[in-house]
Amino acid sequence: MKHGPYVDTLSQVDPEVYEAIRKETIRQNTTLQLIASESPSSLAVLAASGSVMTNKYAEGYPHKRYYGGCEYMDTVEDLAIERAKKIFGCEHVNVQPHSGSQANAAAYMAVMKPGDTLLGMDLSHGGHLTHGHPLSFSGILYKATHYTVSPKTETLDMAEVAAKAREVKPKVIVTGYSAYPRTIDFKAFREVADEVGAYLVADIAHIAGLVAAGAHPSPVPYADFVTTTTHKTLRGPRGAIVMCKEAHAKALDKAVFPGLQGGPFMHLIAAKAVAFNEALQPEWKKTQNQVVVNAKKLCGTLSSRGFRMVSGGTDNHLMLVDVTGKKLTGKEAEAALGAAGITVNKNTIPFDKNPPFVASGVRIGTPSVSYRGMKEAEMDLIGGFIADVLEQPANAEVAGHVKKDVLDLCGRFPLYPL
Ligand SMILES: *Cc1c(COP(=O)(O)O)cnc(C)c1O
Repeated sequence: MKHGPYVDTLSQVDPEVYEAIRKETIRQNTTLQLIASESPSSLAVLAASGSVMTNKYAEGYPHKRYYGGCEYMDTVEDLAIERAKKIFGCEHVNVQPHSGSQANAAAYMAVMKPGDTLLGMDLSHGGHLTHGHPLSFSGILYKATHYTVSPKTETLDMAEVAAKAREVKPKVIVTGYSAYPRTIDFKAFREVADEVGAYLVADIAHIAGLVAAGAHPSPVPYADFVTTTTHKTLRGPRGAIVMCKEAHAKALDKAVFPGLQGGPFMHLIAAKAVAFNEALQPEWKKTQNQVVVNAKKLCGTLSSRGFRMVSGGTDNHLMLVDVTGKKLTGKEAEAALGAAGITVNKNTIPFDKNPPFVASGVRIGTPSVSYRGMKEAEMDLIGGFIADVLEQPANAEVAGHVKKDVLDLCGRFPLYPL
């Protein structure tokens, strides 16, 4: 199987790194990747990521650079901008952030001063580190406050979010999560923000691919800023973008450069342009809808095998499985599944009694397997594999059987069909 451009040269120049890349290619191809934040990029995206665009400094923005020789940098950045606007219908977009964390830092920096109040979802309920965790810049620079999901439904109760917002009077409210399986009501968040005079940041790092396909409502009409990574459901290179209303465009661009970053990663901006073009093709909608259909199917299979799903199910690409009913911790479940060729991550569940490094659940996502072409029948199989392993986590024979079945299934759905 092909590894992408320049990798053949690498095998001669640096066999140690080459060998690690070769083995990682095999790992990705022969095991089931169910990490909700990961997805395999296309070979075209990999080609742009590994290109000579990495050689170039291009500080500034298209047609206003601090370096000479930027004509083709302008071409790819203009393409990325145009295509992102077409996908999301936003007024302005900055395609330079190196990561989702930096995208959020830029959005906050555009409208907040250190010491201002930020209101985000608690990390252990599905929020991200950059939504005000004490170890993140967001909790260090800003006065971080948090809302949670409702203990009864394990979903957002907008009346509770509104009550919290009235209490803390935040400068910024952030919505959009890393581990929330349900649809987000962005309009309701806008109403809360308006009532308390806050800016609204929607962080759609996880669901951007679904939003691009209309498989989840878009926050663009409601939020002052919309941030997203480009490497999760969007299937692009590692990186991020920030969209905003025209009124915030100048402040945002200044926050990204020179506020937080120097030279943009032009190879990754080229790759973002490629990924955005893929998201504009008619097949995109079908694939993203299948991601959601697959998640619902897998969720159903696991429920029928006696697993408790946080919030009772899923509306998007991910689910949170409470494994305590099977007398397991998330850490144990992650390790048992890993031994059977199934990659997931342990995750806290709302009001978790275990610390984050142990956790009571696992987070399971369907983007990667869906992009390989798997559908409902395969989700049924995968649900069966997971249940078989977690019902007898110490049984090496079961793990061996499942690992072989996983290998067969992966063989039928190659990561990069040639
Ligand atoms: C993944 C994620 C991010 C951060 O992305 P990085 O590129 O890892 O910095 C931000 N917000 C949410 C909700 C995420 O899930």
